Order: sequence, then structure tokens, then C-alpha cells
Amino acid sequence: MQCKQFKKCGACRFQLDEYESQLAYKQNRIDNLLSKFGKVEKIIPMENPFNYRNKVQCAFYYDFKRKKCVSGVYQSTSKKIIPIDYCALDDKKADEIILSIRKLADEFRIPPYDIRTKSGFLRHILIRKGFKSGEIMVVIVTASPVFPSKSNFVKALLKKHGEITTVVQNINTTDTNLFLGEQSKILYGKGYIEDILCSCTFRISPASFYQVNPVQTEILYKTAIDYAALSGTEAVFDAYCGTGTIGIIASKSAKQVLGVELNKNAVKDAVINAKKNKCENIFFIEADAAQLINELAKEKEHFDVVFMDPPRAGASRKFLLSLLKLKPQKIIYISCNPKTLARDLETLTEKEYKAEIIQSVDMFPFTEHIETVVKLIKK
Ligand code: SAH
Repeated sequence: MQCKQFKKCGACRFQLDEYESQLAYKQNRIDNLLSKFGKVEKIIPMENPFNYRNKVQCAFYYDFKRKKCVSGVYQSTSKKIIPIDYCALDDKKADEIILSIRKLADEFRIPPYDIRTKSGFLRHILIRKGFKSGEIMVVIVTASPVFPSKSNFVKALLKKHGEITTVVQNINTTDTNLFLGEQSKILYGKGYIEDILCSCTFRISPASFYQVNPVQTEILYKTAIDYAALSGTEAVFDAYCGTGTIGIIASKSAKQVLGVELNKNAVKDAVINAKKNKCENIFFIEADAAQLINELAKEKEHFDVVFMDPPRAGASRKFLLSLLKLKPQKIIYISCNPKTLARDLETLTEKEYKAEIIQSVDMFPFTEHIETVVKLIKK
């Protein structure tokens, strides 16, 4: 099977019939970048590498010739919207809901927003689905707060898709193609969904970071927790903790966990998630990870294990140097970018640490992205 929008959309690097060769490409890339640091295991493939995305988003434009609202995705290299009815990576139900919304927009005469003329109303749709819970959130991103006939619109949408558990309106008044605005209003349901990962429950709000491939995320987190080999007595630090996922799972087999995260809303979700999972031995601090770890090292605080899961840019030099001062027995580095991972491993393994095992997990089949876990131990 080939995707017709392959080159235009730009999200995928490999065609849909190329799973084996892309795994070989990814393996080769991590071997080249990382084998000098330690043993590189074979990448863990996805059993069924299709329809894995539990977060699906689209933008709209009006096709004046066909007199129809069209949905699609922003081309990765431009602001152009590439029409898409079905994407082989998206959750199927999410794509169906988008097609229904597109039809409803025409029926309700809701004009799509045009970024060039700054006119129109309907900007984007974001759908998030709980893999295990089955809960579905639809976020309707609009250019202004006043949503004409919103109750009837939501009613019509729920009539077509009774499986939707919550609908949120997000208002994005910016003139950029930033996806979400600052303000949200709940139109139906509780305004968020929940999902279960590694037997813990997590809240997913419209803007919170949550891995997009739940099947492989569970494998990734289990690998990371396994590498930590916690016995119940350890002090654990979870750097770049997002909504607290890794720390909360680890807290079940550790003495105490401290999570640090820069994003205020993520920290709020992390605190709620900890309560929901009855974890009383985990604490979160809203701060720059480098700043906090530097202070902890200065105060000679002791941590046995540090999980670190930085964004694509990797960790800052200040973070790495402070981590070396903190001297945990183990560092479990979870990375979404092998290039910055290699750069950071250079610093960490220069004297103090040894990379014992390097394991990639194919979290984003058909795209070029590679997720990797590295277990480092103090020499
Ligand atoms: N560990 C989480 C989130 C990883 S994504 C999970 O698996 O779900 C990386 C996170 O790092 C994001 O939540 C981002 O907000 C946060 N972040 C980025 N820069 C940061 C910094 N300087 N200090 C602390 N957190 C930061």
C-alpha cells in the first residue's frame, strides 16, 4: 500500500510498504551514532505499525470550486494545507470524526479560517483518544470566542459519534499557525480524558504532553523502569517529567520520587495524576531542570536513580554538568533524538559514567523519528 500524499504531506519519511527497510535504516542510524558508547540492542519494532496515533489534528480551508470545507494537515515545510481524508498512522475513529465535522461545518455554514485574509471561524480540530479507556476528546479550535449555534453543532456531532466523551472549544486568536490558543471552554463532558499506561491512570488535557503511540510507550516506559531495577529503597529524580508518567510508574517501586518540569499546566496534571494513582511518595517542582538539579547538587542531596527525558534539543550543558555533580548510581536517559543523545552521552561518559545498554523503540513508524533508552551506571 502506498500513500498518495506521501511527498506532499511530509510527515512520513518511508512509504507504507517499507516497514522492514525503515527498521534497517533506523538500526543503522543508531548503530552509527551510538555504538561507540556501549552495546546497541536491536530496535523494538511495532507489531502492527499502522493507525497508532492517539492524537490526531487537522486544519481546514474552503474549496470555492467545489463549495466545500476541506480538512487536511499543514505541510511540514510550508503553511499550506494538504487535503487528507484518511491517514494510515491515525486512529481510524479520529479520522472518521474529522470527516463528520467537515460535513457539519458545511451544513451549519461555519466558514473555515483563512490565515492569509484572517477571516473565517473554524481553525483546527484536535482529537485525543484513550487507548485503554476508549475515551475520546474533540477540541474545536476557533478564531473567536463566539460560536454561533454551538449547542446544536455539538448535539449533531454527538448524534453521529456517541463514543465522544468530551468536547472542548479552544480559542486561538493568533495570526500564526500555532495549533492551540490559550483559552479553552468545555462544551460537553469533563474537558479531559483519562488513559491507563503500565497500570497507572493519567489525565490528558487538550494541551498536555502525552506520548502519541500508547502501545510502544508502554514498552518504552517498561524498558526504562526495568533498567532502573528499583527495589523500593531508592530516591529517584524524574527530570523533564511532563505530566509525571515515568515518575508515577517508578514511585510504585521506589522510596521517594522528585519530578521537575518547566510547563505549569503539565505540573498541575502531574499533581492530579499522582493523587489519582494514590502515590504519596512523589513530589513535583515547576522549574528549569538544570537550575533545580544544580541546586540539589550544591546542597549535596542524594539520588540513586535519575530518569531524564528531555525534548528534541537534548539536555543543556548546565544540566549535564550538574548531573555529574549529583552523582546518582544510575542514569536512565530517554531520548527522542539520537543526535542530541550522542552529544550528551559524550559528556556523561567522558569520565564518570558508562553506557551499559542502549535500546531503541520504534515509537513513530514511517516517520524518521527514533526513541531510545540508555542505561548509564557510575564507574
Ligand atoms: N517524561 C514525560 C515528558 C517528556 S517530553 C513523558 O514521557 O510524558 C519533555 C518535557 O520536558 C516536556 O514536558 C517539556 O515541557 C519539558 N521541558 C522542556 N524544557 C525543560 C526544562 N528546561 N526544564 C524542565 N522541563 C523542561
